[in-house]
Amino acid sequence: MLYESTRGGQKGLTSAEAIKQGIAGDGGLFVPDSRVRFSLEQIAAMAGMSYQDRAATVLAPYLTDFTAGEIRECVANAYRAPKFDTPAIAPLVRTAGGDHYLELWHGPTLAFKDMALQILPHLLQRSMTKTGEPFDIVILVATSGDTGKAALEGFRDVPKTRIIVFFPNQGVSEVQKLQMITQEGGNVGVFAVRGNFDDAQTGVKAIFTDPETVKKLAEHNFKFSSANSINWGRLVPQIAYYFSAYADLLKNGVIAPGEQINFVVPTGNFGNILAGFYARRMGLPVRRLICAANTNNVLTDFIRTGTYDKNRRFEKTISPSMDILVSSNLERLLYELTGHDAEKVSGWMSDLRDKGRYDVDRSTRYRITELFWSDWASDDETLKTIRKVHEDTGYVLDTHTAVGKAVYERYKEETGDGTWTVIVSTASPFKFNASVARAILGEDTVAGKSEFELLSMLAEATGLSVPPALRDLDKKPVLHPRVVEPEEMRDAVLAMLIGRN
Ligand SMILES: *Cc1c(COP(=O)(O)O)cnc(C)c1O
Repeated sequence: MLYESTRGGQKGLTSAEAIKQGIAGDGGLFVPDSRVRFSLEQIAAMAGMSYQDRAATVLAPYLTDFTAGEIRECVANAYRAPKFDTPAIAPLVRTAGGDHYLELWHGPTLAFKDMALQILPHLLQRSMTKTGEPFDIVILVATSGDTGKAALEGFRDVPKTRIIVFFPNQGVSEVQKLQMITQEGGNVGVFAVRGNFDDAQTGVKAIFTDPETVKKLAEHNFKFSSANSINWGRLVPQIAYYFSAYADLLKNGVIAPGEQINFVVPTGNFGNILAGFYARRMGLPVRRLICAANTNNVLTDFIRTGTYDKNRRFEKTISPSMDILVSSNLERLLYELTGHDAEKVSGWMSDLRDKGRYDVDRSTRYRITELFWSDWASDDETLKTIRKVHEDTGYVLDTHTAVGKAVYERYKEETGDGTWTVIVSTASPFKFNASVARAILGEDTVAGKSEFELLSMLAEATGLSVPPALRDLDKKPVLHPRVVEPEEMRDAVLAMLIGRN
């Protein structure tokens, strides 16, 4: 299997090269140049496998420059105890109400990003050896919360890598901040930036592209790479859990081999749901992919009309990991649906850059509506959904998953579709405990309480226990106390990597 850019500028890369490079030189994203197909027998056989074996089975045809042993080793290093708190890794849970949730938050940072960021560093490290990379890789991340912590946990103590994270000093929750400044690991750096997320992001981009910094790092055998969700090495491990959910439904006798199911996916950057699209193309019997958005409903409009228009107000919601106006991974979907038409895709992407919008052609639009369905939920509906599901079934949803459930209810109402459906659950309710506590305990009860008080109140009200990763957070030593000005970010990077500047 070889990889090519969605904009036509690069072709014929091995998976190791595509993963190491991250983004294509022409600004496009790497995609596989041909289609992988699994037979129904192959899919049914996964019912008897562990999560690790299911993941290795899905990765193998995409990473053909890796040996089976290498893939198995990457998978075993990523998906194991105590990093994941259940041997099922991505358990499929059936509630008393009969809904199925695919819980993707049993990793170290309690959100679905761990499914990819726990394995990406191992894939990257292997890719470096394979391509004879002489330098160590430096990952720079600007984060508004979730991704930074997941990347830190994934890359900590991975040989030949360094990970440096910048977060806005006032722009993350107390729990998120403590998660990062207490981060352990010999190859990690964490800095608060006096400013907002944009300041941190602009600073990181400037360091990344500063020729003098790049040259100085090269003299010390370092080079930059990217861990964000446009890296193919983050997307491909996500395909595995769609197969895993289907295999569990088979194993539990809910469906028969070949029977179609739907997935509902709380969506932001379109990475998670795109993995579901690839699973379907590989032969997984999927009828509909239901794209659930919050008030930032640019994707709902796109799926309904074929027009992508980011010229609208950015809304801060209680499902912050879905607060996105430009869903980068959509570019890969368009490339696949146009039969690898790089010219068309490049045109739409330059419209997006120049005018903030693009319109796809009729046949692409038809293909999208055939496969996808979309709606969105407001913060108010999200809170009501959390409360209702808890009251009716005792199951506790986080704010992102609740958007998925709300949209699923609307889907059933509007289409009457009774196909078995899996709602993809993207975060632990404890990760967004302030909003979840507000939904379940009521506004008055939570008023004036700290995030840590709310953790134990939520645990008591739901009978769940506070995840260990959060429980002792306020007692852990602070290892990264530094706050830097935006203009000091570059010096902080150089000082950490080469000890002087
Ligand atoms: C990142 C994230 C999402 C959105 O996933 P995309 O792949 O960006 O669409 C949804 N929920 C949670 C909790 C997340 O962290």
